Amino acid sequence: MPTLSPRIRSIVPDGEDDGWGVQMRAQAMAREGRDIILLTMGDHDFPTMKGIREACGAALKTGRTGYGSIHGIVPLRRNIAKRGSAVHGFEVDQDLVVVSMGGQAALFATAMTCLDPRDEAIVIEPYYATYAQTIRAAGGVPVTIGTSADQRFQPDVDTLRAAITPRTRMILCNSPNNPSGVVYTRETLEGIAALCIEHDLWLVSDEVYHSQVYDGAHLSPASLPGMRERTFIVDSMSKSHAMTGWRSGWLICPNEEAAACVMDLFLTSAYGVAPFIQLAMRAALAGGKGPEYEIAEKYRFRRDRAVETLAVSKRLKVLAPEAAMYVLIDLRHFASDAERFAYALLEETGVAVMPGDSFGASTAGHIRISLTAPEEKLVEACTLIAGFADKWSET
Ligand code: PLP
Repeated sequence: MPTLSPRIRSIVPDGEDDGWGVQMRAQAMAREGRDIILLTMGDHDFPTMKGIREACGAALKTGRTGYGSIHGIVPLRRNIAKRGSAVHGFEVDQDLVVVSMGGQAALFATAMTCLDPRDEAIVIEPYYATYAQTIRAAGGVPVTIGTSADQRFQPDVDTLRAAITPRTRMILCNSPNNPSGVVYTRETLEGIAALCIEHDLWLVSDEVYHSQVYDGAHLSPASLPGMRERTFIVDSMSKSHAMTGWRSGWLICPNEEAAACVMDLFLTSAYGVAPFIQLAMRAALAGGKGPEYEIAEKYRFRRDRAVETLAVSKRLKVLAPEAAMYVLIDLRHFASDAERFAYALLEETGVAVMPGDSFGASTAGHIRISLTAPEEKLVEACTLIAGFADKWSET
């Protein structure tokens, strides 16, 4: 028999826990009729706004069902560039925008564009769960660096420097961060930028949560001196516009050559995002900041309610998020194994959360909750988590 590509087989190495076990167990329990509150995935509990769905419907009604533009239709890229210029701190050129099937395809494109087989990419913990897999899919080697809860998960530049080898080609940076909800400081980002310049590295800046910053302000590292020409910005409407299922994202590339490479890759893979989806994206962005502001305000409210409810516990240490849709909770001082805690929490209370190990070793001993349940359900879940934690015994 022919063999399967070792590169593809190594995307999720044999025996590696992909972190979704608790969610799968929760879904099985729900099928058996148990009442479950699912706070695992970063997927909204409400649908995409009506106006956006109607724009898609109108495009389908008028037969916009042919191939989509691989680059992205001009009016959409124009809207993306306009929004991006206000957010990333420099004038975004619409020709450097390439529309992608979600932020995930944009991430994959950066790995394929920047890495040759066995090249190294530095990933900062805690990280979005697919980062290492995406780098491996491109034949690269993920090199993770730890951060610490005591430093609010801000990466340390000396630790980053120590991870750079002659094979390093890029650093992947995610601020605002999933899962921590931390926004990297200017000092942190300047340190990362200096390293990229000193060692001639690409920076992939995943900014998909930039519209959901509640404390402080978003700063794109691409806006720092000398960085625009070496930074790929990953963005997506999944979180900002509640459009996870639409697969609606894009890359802002550092130059025309890079954009052409990404388009060549998409030519051989998705062949562009469906035109009716691009038209819905365009309509969503044409609405200005309104739709994303409304969603961000919803999550800000939920964040406040969740943090205040969890504070009732005498044991939980809650990292109040500055941004995004998650709350990270530190259990290390009373629970030795967060995954065991998460499974037990699910069995006893029906609340499903992510064990922190899913985001790298730096968040071992933590759990992450997604704020993706209606307010009263979220408060109920937080009350159950607090009560369960205060009773938790290892024996
Ligand atoms: N980047 C981060 C940090 C994320 O948290 C996610 C999704 O959870 C993505 C990228 C991928 O988003 P998309 O749905 O646009 O592929």
